[in-house]
Amino acid sequence: MTIDRKRLAALAAAVPSANSRFQNLEPVPSHGLRDFLRWQLAPGRRFPMGKQYHLLRPDAHLLSQPPPDAQLTWLGHSSFLFQYQGFNALTDPVFSERASPFRFVGPRRYTPAALKVAELPPIHRVLISHNHYDHLDEATVEKLHRRFGDALQFCIPMGLRHWFERRGIHNLVELGWWQSEMLGHDTEVFCLPAQHFSGRSALDGNTTLWCSWLMEMDGYRFYFAGDTGYGGVFRQIGELFAPIHLALIPIGAYEPRWFMAPVHVAPEEAVHIHRDIGARQSVAMHWGTFVLTDEPMDEPPRRLRKALAEQAVAESCFRVMQHGETLVFPANYGD
Ligand code: ZN
Ligand code: ZN
Repeated sequence: MTIDRKRLAALAAAVPSANSRFQNLEPVPSHGLRDFLRWQLAPGRRFPMGKQYHLLRPDAHLLSQPPPDAQLTWLGHSSFLFQYQGFNALTDPVFSERASPFRFVGPRRYTPAALKVAELPPIHRVLISHNHYDHLDEATVEKLHRRFGDALQFCIPMGLRHWFERRGIHNLVELGWWQSEMLGHDTEVFCLPAQHFSGRSALDGNTTLWCSWLMEMDGYRFYFAGDTGYGGVFRQIGELFAPIHLALIPIGAYEPRWFMAPVHVAPEEAVHIHRDIGARQSVAMHWGTFVLTDEPMDEPPRRLRKALAEQAVAESCFRVMQHGETLVFPANYGD
């Protein structure tokens, strides 16, 4: 369980310093506007059937009086409420109707957010993986800041500080890949690589970093993969941090593969990540909420089930939650 600090420091030192644009650790094909149009205008392109998922009403009592074990509530897409020993964190909270810079156009929710900001228990920390609109939502961030004030801390990848400070948010932990910071006496948060990209406009591509996060609390390891394609980095993360008690791994937004594979894993690769990082328990995210890509809305969990069988991983080790569902994961799971 001890972390090889020397290796971690060497990896951090080896990250190429960004001149003006960040880049992935392994070279991946980057698709420009021409490829984007080729995808969007492709004949016979499937438009995914809209399936509104059944939304469970989170139990307010469970959220305000969680057990000491890790408790997880899926709020939709990559937004989760993670609770552990009296501490509450959110991942990439997006509660708005659209994942878009505009209120009236852009990808719309198929399934409503499971909670409003006003219904959340006190939140201590938010992990932000990158600045795409389906992960960093201005209205949600502002509401969270208004409700919880400076007590709420945002962990953000390098380059996003200015975006938050412009909105009056100063309780920030801004880190680059393989860097960590102690928060309080028993929590350490690690900013780890992911294979993806960033940008909120036509001009700011890759000017801010994208990442995954690992939060270690009193020996308990919680991993949030953010958005990512598959690469060798997950074996490295596993070598440094396995076993990981609970991991959130994306399973959606993968079609068409020729366009999406470098930046979004398909379910088979999500299972590879689960194995590479040494996760005892994983939970699927990034599906069933916004229509972003070409696969049918209900395909990712089916394809995940098949991949788990093919890779001999028990279905109970990689759970697919329902929108609004709360699950408790005992810390000694898999011991
Ligand atoms: Zn993204
Ligand atoms: Zn995304």
